[in-house]
Order: sequence, then structure tokens, then C-alpha cells
Amino acid sequence: MNPFHYTRASDVSDAIRQIAADPAAKFIAGGTNLIDLMKYDVEHPARLVDISHLPLRSVEETSGGGLRIGALVPNSDLAYHPLIEQRYPLIASAILSGASQQLRNMASTGGNLVQRTRCFYFYDAVTPCNKRQPGSGCSAISGINRINAILGTSEACIATHPSDLCVALAALEAIVHVVGPAGARAIAFSDFHRLPGDTPQRDTNLEPNEIITAIELPPKGFRANYSYLKIRDRLSYAFALVSVAAALELDGDTIKEARLALGGVAHKPWRVTAAEAALRGQRADAGAFAQAADLVLRGAKGYGHNNFKIGLARRAIVRTLSQAARGTPQSQSVKKIR
Ligand SMILES: Cc1cc2nc3c(=O)[nH]c(=O)nc-3n(C[C@H](O)[C@H](O)[C@H](O)COP(=O)(O)OP(=O)(O)OC[C@H]3O[C@@H](n4cnc5c(N)ncnc54)[C@H](O)[C@@H]3O)c2cc1C
Ligand code: SF4
Repeated sequence: MNPFHYTRASDVSDAIRQIAADPAAKFIAGGTNLIDLMKYDVEHPARLVDISHLPLRSVEETSGGGLRIGALVPNSDLAYHPLIEQRYPLIASAILSGASQQLRNMASTGGNLVQRTRCFYFYDAVTPCNKRQPGSGCSAISGINRINAILGTSEACIATHPSDLCVALAALEAIVHVVGPAGARAIAFSDFHRLPGDTPQRDTNLEPNEIITAIELPPKGFRANYSYLKIRDRLSYAFALVSVAAALELDGDTIKEARLALGGVAHKPWRVTAAEAALRGQRADAGAFAQAADLVLRGAKGYGHNNFKIGLARRAIVRTLSQAARGTPQSQSVKKIR
């Protein structure tokens, strides 16, 4: 273990002041990802600024009819919040498909967005990895890449983003509210995570001295016709090989609006608005869903061990859209244990 300093932030301004004063400092919220990374010798912060006591734990209705979720709302509290269960069940379903009850009790909403990839080589500090050590190479491209990306990859990195919550947030067009030394700004969810390009060490467009304060959900929750399907090696406590968040607004059998985002396939939640546009005005049937899947997966490329993901993603998209259209979402229900 490397030595590090530990301090607590007294409020958001203090958190920003502390992080801006020390380039080697990192925020810690629930600690469920950062502490693991420190133990694996992947992250070496000289200072941990504990933000877990900041007053960012409320879920409030916005004047525009949406919801504002504090960055420190634990994943469990969010999944079981009445407003989420009633109006945004896609969010509850995605959260409950992830991790374990104990982890979800600790994990924060903000931390879930900034959690790092689960690429095997990223965690193995003795192998080359451009994300962990820029310029060292990518061991996954010609290595064991079963869990790696098939879309939006680069020659530098084929990692995936591991979050479930983020896939639902992408489909619902959430907004990330952040504050830094230059003030507050709002980031559209589609602009929050980055593709690897030639800077895979940067997962997001959050500046190192900025803190996430809240996630805003627009009014539309698609509560009647949604589904989150997560395909993984075990039924619990496993990250997605492929996941799909689908949300539809129907007029009889006709699709008025469609949202579709994939997890486990790219460096960010993968959303192709052209596929959503192609669904609009179509009859909600397997033919239209297969056509949308083809658009989402245009340009998909396997790296050997993960070739199976292309066909799996195609079938998962069709199945998830069918579940959403029938109003029979994939069940992720987990009893509330506190
Ligand atoms: C065994 C295991 C299984 C898991 N399975 C799943 C799964 O299936 N699906 C899934 O989605 N997740 C899964 N997770 C990941 C878990 O959801 C994340 O670790 C968790 O959401 C991170 O939140 P945290 O508050 O613990 O973050 P921390 O570990 O405290 O921090 C993570 C990162 O976020 C930064 N950060 C935290 N809060 C803020 C903020 N407000 N502003 C700016 N930066 C911030 C920290 O500096 C750090 O870099 C799993 C984790 C484990 C250990
Ligand atoms: S895919 Fe990315 S995270 Fe994995 S080894 Fe290559 S550079 Fe590292």
C-alpha cells in the first residue's frame, strides 16, 4: 500500500479548493472502486478528499417536471426511491442488475459514472496498458479480450465502460451537473464519457478539479414501455457482456418515440440516434427491431475472443425492444434488504 493523506471536505467549495490545490489528490465517495484500484497498484492518489459527508443525498423534483439526483445518493436508495420506481423504472432496473446489495448500499450515483473499466489488463499492473500507463501498449487487442469492446474502439484501447446505471441514463438523456474552480456547468450525458481515441487514459470529459454534484433526469421516464436486459456470465455479481436499455412511447402498435442504449460493447454507453429515428413511425415488431439492431451495430468489430458479442448484441437488442413493446420488462427485482 502506498502512503496517502486523508482529509474530509466540509462543503462543495471546500472539496473543489482541496482538489484544485493538489494535482495528485482524488475524491473518494463510497470507495467501492477507488480503494480496489489502490490495492491493485493501479491508482496512486497522494491525497484522498472524502466527499461522502457532503449534503448531496437528496432526490428532488425539478420545476421542469424532471428529477435532480444528488451525486451522493447511494445506488440502493436511488433504485428503491418511490419517484424512481414509479416514474423511471428503467433506472431502478439497471441499478438492481449490478453488483450486490452490499456494494449498492455503499456505491454513490456520482462514483458510478466515474468508475473505471474492468479490462483484465488494466488491473494487472505488470502488463502493458495504455489506459493505466499511456504509451505502454494495449495487451487486450491480441490478448484475452472476451469482455472487451466491439464498437468505437481505437488502436490504443478496446476497453468497455462497466456501468449499468449509465446505460439507462444515456437512454433517458440525463444531464450531469458539475462544479469546478471556474464555476458550474451542465454536461449532456452523451458528452460525459469519451471514446478512447489516442487518449484512453481519459474516461470522461470531467476535469480533474471538478466534482459531480447532481444528475438531472428529463420529465420523460417511459414508465409503461421499457426494459433493461443484462447478459453476463453469472446471474448476479457480474459485469455485462452486453446490456441493452430500451424505452418506447407507443400509439397503439406504432412507435412514436424510441430510445436505445447498449452497455458492455464500447468505452461509453453506446447510443445510435439514427437507429432510434428509424424506429419512429414503424410498427413495433421484430422486423423493425432487427433493422434498428443492424444500425446500432454498423461497424462493429470483434477482436477474437469477443467476436460472439456482435451476434449476442443483435439478439439482445431485438429481445429488449420486444419486452419494452409488450410492457413486460426483464425482471431485476431484488428484495429491499437494509
Ligand atoms: C465486485 C464489484 C462488482 C460490481 N458490479 C457492478 C455492476 O454489475 N454494475 C455496475 O454498474 N457497477 C458495478 N460495480 C461498480 C460499482 O457500482 C462502482 O464501484 C460504484 O458505483 C462507484 O461508486 P463509489 O461511490 O464507490 O465510487 P468511489 O470508488 O468512491 O470513486 C470512484 C471514482 O469516482 C470518483 N468520484 C466519486 N464521486 C465523485 C463525484 N461526486 N465527483 C467527481 N468524482 C467522483 C472518485 O474520485 C473515483 O475516481 C461493482 C463493483 C464491485 C467492487
Ligand atoms: S483495452 Fe484499454 S484498458 Fe485494456 S489493456 Fe488495452 S489499453 Fe488497457
